Amino acid sequence: MPIKEDFCHNKKPIGKIMHSDGEHFHWVWPSQGLAEASKNPDVLAAYKKNGEKMEKIGVSGTMVAVDWDSCVADGACIEACPVQVFQWYRTEKDISAVKAIHETFDGTGSSVKEERHDYSDNADPIREHDCIWCMACVSVCPPQAVLVDQGNQEWHEKALGTYQKLGSGQANPHAHD
Ligand code: SF4
Repeated sequence: MPIKEDFCHNKKPIGKIMHSDGEHFHWVWPSQGLAEASKNPDVLAAYKKNGEKMEKIGVSGTMVAVDWDSCVADGACIEACPVQVFQWYRTEKDISAVKAIHETFDGTGSSVKEERHDYSDNADPIREHDCIWCMACVSVCPPQAVLVDQGNQEWHEKALGTYQKLGSGQANPHAHD
């Protein structure tokens, strides 16, 4: 199911994945509903092996966003990215996705397509801040779970409480000086 363009618009994050550098993090947004992952035999088998329940997760990232309910751990985005924005989160911390969305990561997980921990793993945009907006990851995702939109910085900042509207509409106190 293609990730919706407005997945983060006027919504509140449900999680925050922090980078251990103490500077960077990315939001996790509300689930758009169970999708491809809940029907994929490889993903279901991995959940069963791990003793985990298939449940709604959400969308990881804002400007570089991956719908984890759609992600079937194909790894095409990971392979396509020239600057290693993504990692397989489970290759760094082998925990369930519902726990991962509140965790801190070092970014030391694998950024190699075939090195997924198993098919319950997800591509996580741990280095969202390094994205160069090349869009290579977007079209290669089989379930179209990836959306890259630099304009979503606005929603990242609004959720953080740092958003300041800029532009011609902004009042200039010295305009008539
Ligand atoms: S748009 Fe390009 S740089 Fe950004 S995450 Fe996708 S592949 Fe990587």
